[in-house]
Amino acid sequence: MVRFELVSKVYPGGQKAVDDLNLEARKGEFVCLIGPSGCGKTTTMKMINRLHEPTSGRIYVNGRDIMQMNPVTLRRQIGYVIQQIGLMPHMTIAENVALVPRLLGWDRARQEKRVNELLPLVGLDPATYRDRYPSELSGGQQQRVGIARAMAAMPELILMDEPFSALDPITRETLQDEMKRLQHKYKLTVVFVTHDMDEALKLGDTIVVMRSGKIVQAASPDELLRNPKDDFVAQFVGRDRTRDVSLLKVADVMIRPVTIGPEHGLAEALVLMKKRRVSSLMVVDEDDRLLGFVTPRMIEKVRRGRVADVMRPDIITASPETPLQEAFERMFLAHLDYLPAVDEEGRLVGLITSTTMVDALSQALWSDEGESE
Ligand code: ADP
Ligand code: MG
Repeated sequence: MVRFELVSKVYPGGQKAVDDLNLEARKGEFVCLIGPSGCGKTTTMKMINRLHEPTSGRIYVNGRDIMQMNPVTLRRQIGYVIQQIGLMPHMTIAENVALVPRLLGWDRARQEKRVNELLPLVGLDPATYRDRYPSELSGGQQQRVGIARAMAAMPELILMDEPFSALDPITRETLQDEMKRLQHKYKLTVVFVTHDMDEALKLGDTIVVMRSGKIVQAASPDELLRNPKDDFVAQFVGRDRTRDVSLLKVADVMIRPVTIGPEHGLAEALVLMKKRRVSSLMVVDEDDRLLGFVTPRMIEKVRRGRVADVMRPDIITASPETPLQEAFERMFLAHLDYLPAVDEEGRLVGLITSTTMVDALSQALWSDEGESE
């Protein structure tokens, strides 16, 4: 679909942005270009639709040398999505989406029909959005329109230059998922520039790691993770990978539980809960072995007596080694707000609560906010 043969780009002023690049994106392939700022990703991409022209070498799209094609015709066959969205502010959403079809001379009815097909594809209700203006939409919604616009004339090839990097993490994830789905469904060839390795690993069939205008390694996500070609790639792939949520364990996030002995009085238990602001106490023996738990409701029914009289021993636990996601699932399925962690001898070593869980997950998922590049 796209082939680079020994392509170089030297900007006026002598900056060699791309250096003897050989690259191929097959039909239906999702190719991610990744590398540090200034390594030539955008230049590479812009040469595909002739927003920049190579200084030397050849680029083929669908087997045709693009330098032999009319650049305007070429561009209209290629969808293009950039970070700054680039919607026309004085045109409605429908007009923005229909921009290329209109330039291609489609009649009005066909343009309308296409707009009404496309907006739902990117999760926007046509009745609600088609007559609005870009400024009335959130960043994420605008970027959805940007994708719809890129797909409007049914291109087989879509170029995307850091399209999601200005979005908040949740919106970004959603749009990544949708883009992947659309790419599959319509067998699109996508060349996607990012500096976010998580994004590249998630989306790419092939990841092309660039440095100083050259390709350091082009490989599948799996291959890249297993066999990074050199330290540069390894470092690039390795960055932030320790934050992978699937690697977190209960021990990584558990807190110290509030406990009480079985021989203590119920009034004392209530006071302790109030003082420590917890809605239950873990009951442990003198060796810290977990015996059960007690809540204010259990106490209310009896009022007098000892913790041992009312506590419930049927308690679901995890081990400190339990993967966090599994523990979360256990809590969720059993409608629990917390899950105690016990060691092999049954000793209580920690507690995870739904709050600590959410904190841990959000930190792991999003703590790299703003530290791009
Ligand atoms: P990336 O997208 O990977 O950050 P770019 O392709 O934008 O990298 O830039 C590659 C190199 O080319 C950089 O050194 C950049 O400064 C230079 N460059 C990019 N665009 C131009 C331009 N229009 N004129 C001169 N130099 C440029
Ligand atoms: Mg760039």
